[in-house]
Amino acid sequence: MTGIVVIGAGQAGVALAAKLRGLGADQPITLIGAETTPPYQRPPLSKGYLLGEIGVDRLTLRSDSFYAENDIDLRLGHPVTSIDRASRNIRLGSEWIPYDQLAFTTGSVARRLPVAAGGKRPGVHTVRTRGDVDAMRADLAPGHRAVVIGGGYIGLEAAAVLAKLGLEVTLVEAAPRILARVANSETAAFFRDLHQQNGVTILEETGVANLAGEGDAGRVTGVELVDGRVLPADLVVTGIGIEPVSAMAEAAGLDIDNGIAVDDFGRTSDPDIWAAGDCTSFMWRGQRMRLESVQNAIEQAECVAANMLGAGQSYAPMPWFWSDQYDVKLQIAGLHRGYDQVITRQDGGTSFWSFAAGQLIAVDAANDPRAYMVGKRLLEAGRSVSPEAVAGAVKVQDLL
Ligand SMILES: Cc1cc2nc3c(=O)[nH]c(=O)nc-3n(C[C@H](O)[C@H](O)[C@H](O)COP(=O)(O)OP(=O)(O)OC[C@H]3O[C@@H](n4cnc5c(N)ncnc54)[C@H](O)[C@@H]3O)c2cc1C
Repeated sequence: MTGIVVIGAGQAGVALAAKLRGLGADQPITLIGAETTPPYQRPPLSKGYLLGEIGVDRLTLRSDSFYAENDIDLRLGHPVTSIDRASRNIRLGSEWIPYDQLAFTTGSVARRLPVAAGGKRPGVHTVRTRGDVDAMRADLAPGHRAVVIGGGYIGLEAAAVLAKLGLEVTLVEAAPRILARVANSETAAFFRDLHQQNGVTILEETGVANLAGEGDAGRVTGVELVDGRVLPADLVVTGIGIEPVSAMAEAAGLDIDNGIAVDDFGRTSDPDIWAAGDCTSFMWRGQRMRLESVQNAIEQAECVAANMLGAGQSYAPMPWFWSDQYDVKLQIAGLHRGYDQVITRQDGGTSFWSFAAGQLIAVDAANDPRAYMVGKRLLEAGRSVSPEAVAGAVKVQDLL
């Protein structure tokens, strides 16, 4: 009996396979992962795992016995290399595995620097896989000079950990400000101050021209900036965004548009093939978009699992995300795109409320779980509150 094949054993792939069984699917399920390690979560990689506070056991998504107990055939350590849609088979090493329905949950890879060999040389690190972080450890000596390239959440989290570990950290961001793609300018200012208070130098609107070192492959010794300065470096960490893993889907002729394009149900341009997680773009409020978050990976995968079994559910998330830097837990509900006004509240912690044309679109809450909860509930219910009401409420819960 052929069954369901899931390519990519990360956050979305595991959620999809587990949900299928949870919903009572009785066909064979094969979950295939390119990495050798049992499926794990990535958020701690730039937080507690990099800091050395949490071990491998807390990264793992499910117990080792979970897959066998749920009759999920987990195959690790080999990437699927191609798919044949006509015969409905995928290729794994020398084997062809047949499917009735297929899902791509192939995630994303760290974008590389536009310099020779994508900047791959000793001392230059990305933060995408457990192997990346394990490889970085040898370079994390107190007093070492670290340059972090990229001021998004991953770059900022890595900078916070390196500073905590006693390294001398400079963060370089090409855009006019940090967090330009994902947060409003008030939230960015809050985190700029936080990093500066912790001794991190932040250089915004500062482009990187090249890496310095012996030849193109010798150990990194510095970062050459567009303005001609050279920042000496014992190690470099790049956090300049990700690329969805969609080349195999593209080669198979599926529609691609900033990742594997799916419809409202998570179905690709082939009715037997689905996609979920970082590798996937979908329509959200009239725009095609791609989300890079645990919440999206899980919820989209679970929606796809239900739809593979015929549920016909459309996927309409209310995005949320979090980030940990130093002793600040940031919780984010909604998306900031197109904001034109921000109200800041102090209710113990600090919260930043983004509005577009008077409508609440997102809330960033720093050490303020109550403001996050209130904002999230308002956004989930599709209820807006006016900027004046947010500014004037005595207690944040009065907004509900
Ligand atoms: C350092 C870091 C910190 C993060 N912090 C947060 C956070 O605080 N909050 C948050 O919400 N999100 C965070 N994220 C994002 C979140 O982890 C991702 O959005 C999520 O992992 C996406 O899940 P996914 O299943 O789509 O991709 P992944 O979890 O990346 O899984 C994809 C898997 O597919 C495998 N694969 C790819 N191609 C093939 C192939 N051909 N054959 C077989 N297997 C293949 C890959 O090896 C990979 O294991 C963070 C990410 C990183 C890297």
